[in-house]
Amino acid sequence: MASEKEAALAAAATPSDAPTIFDKIIKKEIPSTIVYEDDKVLAFRDINPQAPTHILIIPKVKDGLTGLSKAEERHCEILGYLLYTAKLVAKQEGLDDGFRIVINDGPKGCQSVYHIHVHLLGGRQMTWPAG
Ligand code: IMP
Repeated sequence: MASEKEAALAAAATPSDAPTIFDKIIKKEIPSTIVYEDDKVLAFRDINPQAPTHILIIPKVKDGLTGLSKAEERHCEILGYLLYTAKLVAKQEGLDDGFRIVINDGPKGCQSVYHIHVHLLGGRQMTWPAG
């Protein structure tokens, strides 16, 4: 499997508003382990977990929000809702002693999928600074 950095560089070479694998997950065209879903967001387990709990939270409608750097004022509501959902899922997963939220952006941020997503990581002691 390509490293996160290699995947990020490969992804950066493709049009950033093109459909991604997350569209297929939303449409249930490929399997995923969904842990939370409502009309606005979907949360599912990362296929390559970096912690005992590693969940991705995504908006069902991308609306140009390929990454955080593309956010406009109209996205404020969904951005807040993504974080609120992360909190709900953290509680659901029993991450009562803490967790980490990550949003990678662009090649230098190691973003590999251009459909904004919040990583929820937990179940182990995190370290700082992040790599
Ligand atoms: P990014 O590097 O911040 O863009 O995160 C993308 C994440 O999507 C990575 O952690 C991948 O492991 C994850 N991922 C890619 N494809 C799938 C999939 O089909 N199911 C679940 N997670 C995936």
